[in-house]
Amino acid sequence: MIKHNVASGPAVYPLEVLEKISKGVLEYESNEISILEITHRSELFFAIRDELISLTKEFLNVPDDFSLLYLQGGGRQHLAQIPMNFLSKNEKALFIDSGYWSSKAIEYTKFYGEAEIISSSKNGNYNSIPEQSFSELDGKYLQYCANNTIYGTQFQELPKANIPVVVDMSSEIFSRSIDFKKVDLVMACAQKNIGPAGLSLLIIKNSFLENANDNVPAIFNYKNLANKNSNYNTPPIFQICASLEMLRWMKAKGGVSFFETETKRRAELLYKAIDKSELVQNNISVKDRSIMNIVFDAIDIKSEQKIVEVFANANIKNIKGHKARGGFRVANYLGQSLETIELIAQRLL
Ligand code: PMP
Repeated sequence: MIKHNVASGPAVYPLEVLEKISKGVLEYESNEISILEITHRSELFFAIRDELISLTKEFLNVPDDFSLLYLQGGGRQHLAQIPMNFLSKNEKALFIDSGYWSSKAIEYTKFYGEAEIISSSKNGNYNSIPEQSFSELDGKYLQYCANNTIYGTQFQELPKANIPVVVDMSSEIFSRSIDFKKVDLVMACAQKNIGPAGLSLLIIKNSFLENANDNVPAIFNYKNLANKNSNYNTPPIFQICASLEMLRWMKAKGGVSFFETETKRRAELLYKAIDKSELVQNNISVKDRSIMNIVFDAIDIKSEQKIVEVFANANIKNIKGHKARGGFRVANYLGQSLETIELIAQRLL
């Protein structure tokens, strides 16, 4: 096992959760069946799915007029499936462009309709969250990515708009509460704060869902998938069971408010060390710094060589930044340990 894993996804799992899952692969909770053999038409699976959905609703205080789905596919798939369901050729989606994942969403959206960027921080190398000085918007919906996994920036306040709002919360879900008055669709792929890759969480306001396109194949059609309670075809049963173990662990720890405090505490500790360090720097606008993905760069080539060696000697894995940005990156997701963050902080000083 990796002792200090700071990958931005698939991310580190708490050991207790890994142990429960591995036991379940042999026999799931005295049911005389392996997780891998559970059928999606069984009462056992219905109970697992319903508990996962109900814990998610409880953690996020999801209002009753939203549908909650756990579906096959990752973030990119749903960044494409969203416009497939909600946009048509003569319609326009508006975007706040805060980096790589916004660009991917824009690229996929253009297959279905128009995509217009209303604000971007591209000129500043995505080192900040774009300005949000808009008031009356004219479009089918507004879309943005709340936490930028690659660039290490995060919306502190979710923007409010006069049109429906779609948010990619893949790398921050469950790390803070969500104001559902400001969002109509939340999408989050699982492999950071929820569970294994191949699963995504969708929370969709019913009034928005009712107006979704009908000319979408049933397998991609959110209305159909919601009507079938996330069980239209064989769902990713292993991912759903493993995610339930993660959410049970989160519940035992104290839910979203606990993780909001813990992740902030760890992030502050690391940012403090980065700001003090003579080897590295973080050039993100301080007010926009992400709690979840902490990026930094070596001050010069010599420092870079030195810290690469220091991290290797300390057995810290997956700290290299994403290829689109370079530098270094530490994921401070819910399953991350204080011990790992403290170790990195120490080694930067
Ligand atoms: N959105 C965000 C914010 C992400 O961080 C990622 C993956 N890191 C994705 C979408 C894409 O997810 P996937 O690899 O599951 O397609």
